[in-house]
Amino acid sequence: MTENKELLRIEGLRKDFGTLQVLKDISLSVGQSKKVALIGPSGSGKTTLLRCINHLESPTGGHIYLDGDLIGEEKRGVRYVRSSAARLARQRLDMGFVFQNFYLWPHLTVQENVALCPWKVQGKSQKEAMDLAEAMLEKVHMAHKRKEYPERLSGGQQQRVGIARALAQQPKIILFDEPTSALDPELVGEVLGVIQELAAEGRSMVLVTHEIRFARDVADEVVFMDGGLVVEKGAPADVIDNPSNERTIRFLGQLR
Ligand code: ADP
Repeated sequence: MTENKELLRIEGLRKDFGTLQVLKDISLSVGQSKKVALIGPSGSGKTTLLRCINHLESPTGGHIYLDGDLIGEEKRGVRYVRSSAARLARQRLDMGFVFQNFYLWPHLTVQENVALCPWKVQGKSQKEAMDLAEAMLEKVHMAHKRKEYPERLSGGQQQRVGIARALAQQPKIILFDEPTSALDPELVGEVLGVIQELAAEGRSMVLVTHEIRFARDVADEVVFMDGGLVVEKGAPADVIDNPSNERTIRFLGQLR
């Protein structure tokens, strides 16, 4: 069974920005095909944690392994040394990242945005990359807009293209950073719907979200963070419906 195989492992992760300790000592594990939701108050370090996983931010301390591979470092004999930029770039391709603000290239069509990484970075032919992009756009129900430029799309549509772009890397795990927080409320549902479909396909994901009901419906595990620490984690039915920590209770209470 691949079900219980560990895919992502975070050990003793710390991140400081100057004198500000943002992540204090985070350890987490994500199994193959599992969905982990990170919730918690604003400023608790959720986005920083996600960005440290793929080294968009360099951790101050600790280790991150994807499929047993230590991210950002490489073993030479008995020691680990910092990876070359090329090795880190390769490791990052295994982790699709979906940004809060989409970050699509305005001068490229939707399909070109999705094809860019497979073509220019991953060495596929232009035709292969464009075909792959079309297939990924179909997954997010955006193939009909493939020739449009991002500015002609709604925020929800742009985010679905952002998701297709992450999928086109063919990553082992997808990291979602508050994927609906920049959207008007009426556009949130279409993006959550797509994420739910991907979850149902058995993809592995870590999702920072304020959508607590969505976290409860989709996640295998919910992690509540506060003050740069994991305060409580477990099944959604425990953490969301029946939290035991006083800080979790207070946070969830404010949302009700
Ligand atoms: P969350 O996602 O839970 O809202 P963040 O990870 O965005 O929290 O931020 C945690 C803390 O780290 C905040 O105090 C924020 O101001 C600080 N922070 C985040 N990024 C930076 C940065 N690049 N430089 C300095 N401080 C930062």
